[in-house]
Amino acid sequence: MSRFLVPSKAGLVEYVPGEQPPRGEFIKLNTNENPFEPPQRSIDYIAQVAKGLNIYNDTRCSRLTETFASYYDIARENVIFSNGSDEVLAFCYLAYCGGENDIAYPDITYGFYSVFSQLFNIRGQEIPLKDDFTIDITDYFGCGRVVLIANPNAPTGIVLPLSDIEQIVINNPDNIVIIDEAYADFSGQSAMQLTKKYKNLIVVGTFSKSRSMAGARLGYAVGDAELIADLNRIKFSFNPYNVNAMTQELGAISIEEDDYFKGCINEITTTRDWFVAEITKLGFDTLPSGANFVFTRNKRLAGEHIYSYLRDNKILVRHFGADKIKDYLRITIGTAEDMAKVVSCLSSI
Ligand SMILES: *Cc1c(COP(=O)(O)O)cnc(C)c1O
Repeated sequence: MSRFLVPSKAGLVEYVPGEQPPRGEFIKLNTNENPFEPPQRSIDYIAQVAKGLNIYNDTRCSRLTETFASYYDIARENVIFSNGSDEVLAFCYLAYCGGENDIAYPDITYGFYSVFSQLFNIRGQEIPLKDDFTIDITDYFGCGRVVLIANPNAPTGIVLPLSDIEQIVINNPDNIVIIDEAYADFSGQSAMQLTKKYKNLIVVGTFSKSRSMAGARLGYAVGDAELIADLNRIKFSFNPYNVNAMTQELGAISIEEDDYFKGCINEITTTRDWFVAEITKLGFDTLPSGANFVFTRNKRLAGEHIYSYLRDNKILVRHFGADKIKDYLRITIGTAEDMAKVVSCLSSI
């Protein structure tokens, strides 16, 4: 740390991303990536787009916006794209938090929310989940703050029904409600269409998980046109070129290659359900998951111990140290073949 860093940044507790070891070293199930490559057409396209990189990219992401809006049946003014969804979440903080406006989110959720609260100097109120890791929606009614909820939640995988989301939105008429749908494609439900009905709802999503594009960095927010205009105001004051030309085209191709996308999701959710059944036989308790990962524990073994055992066997999963969840592991669902190896390794503990 230099002596020039402003004091307010000196105490920042940074977000700790999951480990990214060299390819091939581990069966990598620690960061909720998709085990399948992007569609072949995306890979073919890269060489072609590289030729146009001397020209600045389209700040409005026109082709991607057109393709996305028509696929999801929304208007073009209702979506903004970003460099991963973390960036558009930061735009939401910059647009709607600060001064008197703070933010509420569950105590167990995506780690970046509290990092942004610190970075932007916002009071983040952590609302405890119930003992079964579900959300008590009444905790959020009339809470007088921006509400931020990941659905499915991470790292639990638990899905909050759309009717509950709608209740939270209805009961916060004077606050923004942000639903982070990073894993919604694996759950079969999305609050996106509710944004047509409620002017205080923003749905955030990412191409990182379900669309196999974690390394390309593409996220989005959907909401009322005035909200999207707010977020564009932030974007154009910070980095108008936030989504590079290649990523814009890869995003559009991903949406067009719909059979491939749905096939990958189907394979992952089928493997997830098989995997949960197998580890249940081994004495694991797994929270109900609507995501491409499961949150699981074995009452007879410490989480840390299982984590290390798997790691010694070249299988990388995620373990969090927080007290309430220290005996749980978050295991990303990889290919059926990889998950069979995990089952076999767990059965040998
Ligand atoms: C992975 C993840 C994100 C961020 O994804 P990006 O790669 O930045 O698009 C956002 N929210 C949750 C809950 C996530 O798990």
